[in-house]
Amino acid sequence: MNLILLGAPGSGKGTQAKQIAKRYKFPHISTGDILRQAITEGNALGKQAEGSMKTGELVPDKIILGLIEERLQQKDCKAGAIFDGFPRTILQADGLEALLKKVNRRLDICLSLEVSDERVVQRLSSRRICGGCGKDYNLISNPPPKDNRCAVCGSEIIQRTDDQEETIRSRLAVYRRQTRPLQEYYSGRGLLHIVDGDGAPDEVLKKLCRLIDDHPKEPARN
Ligand code: AMP
Repeated sequence: MNLILLGAPGSGKGTQAKQIAKRYKFPHISTGDILRQAITEGNALGKQAEGSMKTGELVPDKIILGLIEERLQQKDCKAGAIFDGFPRTILQADGLEALLKKVNRRLDICLSLEVSDERVVQRLSSRRICGGCGKDYNLISNPPPKDNRCAVCGSEIIQRTDDQEETIRSRLAVYRRQTRPLQEYYSGRGLLHIVDGDGAPDEVLKKLCRLIDDHPKEPARN
C-alpha cells in the first residue's frame, strides 16, 4: 500500500506516520527528516536545502523528486510506503504518480489531518527534538528529561530552527498556498479522507487505522 499523510506543519503527520509505519510495517518516508539528516551531514543535498528550510519556504520540486526517486528504488519500498511531508505541491504529486506508474504501482489513499492554526502554533512552539535520533518531545505534553539529553540516545535535545513563531506562521502560509490544493487533487481521484487531528494522538491514530483497514485490499502488483 502506498499512503500519503497530508496536513499542515504541526498537524501530527510525523507522529502518526511513525505509528502507522510500525503497525503496518511500511517504510516511513519523511522528506523533512531526509533533508535534516543531509544538513547534519553537511552534504550537497543539505547545502541546497538549508536556506529554504530556515525560512520555512519549500525546497525546489526537482530536488525533492530526485530524492524520492532514489528512495523508492530501495528494496524496503517494494510493498509500499507511507509518505510524510511529501508531496507538498501539485508538481510533486504529478511526479509521485509518474514514479509509481514506472514500477507498476499507484497511490492507494491520502489521509489529510486537519487542525486549527492556533493549535499548530501552540504545538510547534513547544516542540523539541533530539539532535541525534530525531525523537520528538514537547515541553507541555511530553517534556524532555531534566538533563536535556535524549532518553533514547543521550544526544542533546534542541528546538528546530523553523519552530520559532514567525517561521511557523510563514510555514502555515506556504501550506495554505502550495500544499492545501492537494486535497482537491486527491479528492478528484477518489483517494482523499479528511481526519480531525485535534484529539489525543491515540484517538487520531485509531481513526487513521480504521480508514486504512477499511480500504479495499488489492492483490500484490509486481
Ligand atoms: P517537515 O519536517 O515536513 O515539516 O519539513 C521541514 C521543511 O523541509 C519544510 O518547511 C521545507 O522547507 C522542507 N521540506 C520538507 N519536505 C518537503 C517537500 N516535500 N517539498 C519541499 N520542501 C520540503
